[in-house]
Amino acid sequence: MPVIEDIQMVDLKSQYLKIKPEIDDAVLKVISSTRYINGPEVSAFEQELATYLGVKHVVGCANGTDALQIALMALGLEPGDEVIVPSFTYVATAEVIGLLGLTPVMIDVDPLYFHITAELVENAITPRTKAIVPVHLFGQSAPMEEIMQIARSHQLFVVEDNAQSIGSKLTYQDGKTHVSGTIGDVGTTSFFPAKNLGCYGDGGALFTNDDDLAANLRMIANHGQSKRYYHDQLGVNSRLDAMQATILRIKLRHLDGYSASRLAVADAYDAQFAALKHVITPKRDGSSTHVFHQYTLQVPAADREPLISHLKSHGIPAMIYYPVPLYAQKAFAPYWQKGEMLPVTEKLSATVMSLPMHTEMTPALIDHITGAIKSFYHD
Ligand SMILES: *Cc1c(COP(=O)(O)O)cnc(C)c1O
Repeated sequence: MPVIEDIQMVDLKSQYLKIKPEIDDAVLKVISSTRYINGPEVSAFEQELATYLGVKHVVGCANGTDALQIALMALGLEPGDEVIVPSFTYVATAEVIGLLGLTPVMIDVDPLYFHITAELVENAITPRTKAIVPVHLFGQSAPMEEIMQIARSHQLFVVEDNAQSIGSKLTYQDGKTHVSGTIGDVGTTSFFPAKNLGCYGDGGALFTNDDDLAANLRMIANHGQSKRYYHDQLGVNSRLDAMQATILRIKLRHLDGYSASRLAVADAYDAQFAALKHVITPKRDGSSTHVFHQYTLQVPAADREPLISHLKSHGIPAMIYYPVPLYAQKAFAPYWQKGEMLPVTEKLSATVMSLPMHTEMTPALIDHITGAIKSFYHD
């Protein structure tokens, strides 16, 4: 087996080197422009991303967690209102709900797609339910057609957490295509470096087709300010830097290429793992394209730690997204009936593991990784 040095979950360095002249030039231009906050780079990026997604408004902000918070602040919810979220997700999704004095209602997910379903949402609706935050986890869209139907029939807001699935597309029953993050009332994303569209620091954005909501989101992100030094409501200070925006403008032009590279890696992984009886490969929902933010296997719980050690001995990293159900986290104890468990979330937390997945993977690297997993199973 070839020795491959320094394998990472995400190889940002090699990706940067391919676009270095363009990036360096753009960053230096921003530095000499002295327009570091807002200004032309940020609005140009917002415009370009809006065009790419086919959405009316994009509002940049400081990170994906802020984006979720700003979205929820704009909906006029009251303390104690319930917001439905998956129990199997990154903490940010539910954290902001609690921070705003709202009640996160954590629900189980589908065992193969890792998403909330319309049925699970419907079972959790009470008279206090005001919003749903579906997460397009790991790179494919949650079943938004059905979730939107439930939301509309119960008059609930929908905020899509699209931090992991920018660019994924969902086809409805009628054949029409929708872009994830642009379907609900507001969509949010993160430009954290390791995300599919990552900057070189922190960044985030909100998407909406609603003009009034867009104005409100922009106002909240800027200290609730309607006009300079006139503050209509309490807001936050959450800005996308010009330096990050100029990097994102360049990387956005490569995003479809990046998604294609990730998909090719996933196809290669799938083909190599097809014969392994103990390994469940990530199932693709035929109605959504998959942009493979993560390539997440399910393995028997007892195999997971030994398999991760085996990979480590071959210089291969693997990560567990996510090892603890949200409701089992200490921070969420106030929102949970002690001892209650959601079976699918429990199972996934014990069995998932994500393999290296990025835009710079070579066939030799993929062979090395798949070979190591096959050798663990003596295949
Ligand atoms: C990364 C991520 C966030 C938060 O984004 P930050 O930019 O790190 O604040 C929120 N939700 C999900 C699902 C994420 O993966």
